[in-house]
Amino acid sequence: MQDFLDGLVLTLSAETARGKVADYIPQLAHVDPKQFGIAVCTPDGQLYSAGHANTPFSIQSISKVFTLTIALGKMGDGIWKHVGREPSGDPFNSIVQLEHESGKPRNPFINAGAIAVVDAIMMGHEPKETLAEILNFVRFIAQDNSICFDHKVAASEMEHRDRNASLAHFMKAFGRLRHDVDKVLGTYFHQCAIAMNCEQLARAGLFLVSDGIDKATNTRVVSAQRARRINSLMMMCGHYDGSGEFAYRVGLPGKSGVGGGILAIAPGKGSIAVWSPGLDALGNSYLGTRALEQLVQKTGWSVFGH
Ligand code: GLN
Repeated sequence: MQDFLDGLVLTLSAETARGKVADYIPQLAHVDPKQFGIAVCTPDGQLYSAGHANTPFSIQSISKVFTLTIALGKMGDGIWKHVGREPSGDPFNSIVQLEHESGKPRNPFINAGAIAVVDAIMMGHEPKETLAEILNFVRFIAQDNSICFDHKVAASEMEHRDRNASLAHFMKAFGRLRHDVDKVLGTYFHQCAIAMNCEQLARAGLFLVSDGIDKATNTRVVSAQRARRINSLMMMCGHYDGSGEFAYRVGLPGKSGVGGGILAIAPGKGSIAVWSPGLDALGNSYLGTRALEQLVQKTGWSVFGH
């Protein structure tokens, strides 16, 4: 595995086509597109990594997996009153389906869905209490208390919130949000602005590898049924309107973020985090997807076999 990852970093660092860094969040536009990191964490917690695997980046929408897990823990199937579980086939920040579907977002991994999920877990709490809960959960599953919010990224998103604010106000008009829109957005932007490196992120995904158990510490995080369901949502919806393409090329549950990270879960085999800031036209990491494609070809870890 280590040799394979080292080789992958060598080949991909020579690549000139790297996609385009997200610039609609000005604070992310400064990130150097030449960076590439990858980490693989096996069920026992063993980490293999290469490239910029220790450089923190903005996990962005990957955080939606963690807030969904928290929401399921707090309200179980009750969360499905707030959000659906079908792929949207539309971009991550699209508003079109909301009007046709009375303000109920298609799934928890598009922006509207994640905003509905964070509103649901706030349950009358102040944003800072909800944020402490989210950060504690992420620190716990990553087994790393140094993980923090990048407040500059959160502020940059808040300043340029028009698009997400439109989604939130539209949902609120349908009676779908219980809290003040700016409070919900502030919480959502901070969750997206969690900074992690590939090693921490791969470690954080471990509970989804072994039926809900973090085998490195022998802790059950969620039930086996819940882990299976979160993985299937990641497979169907984790890359927005690029989810079909990701399943075709990689064949693993995966969640991307506009920071250029992807968390992919190979059930029973390992948790993989890859980061390269340049994005494809749908907002998913260009080289990150290529790296995962090569990894499954080499290992046969796709859930659909070799
Ligand atoms: N925070 C980003 C946004 O709301 C998350 C989008 C993403 O990672 N796809 O636009």
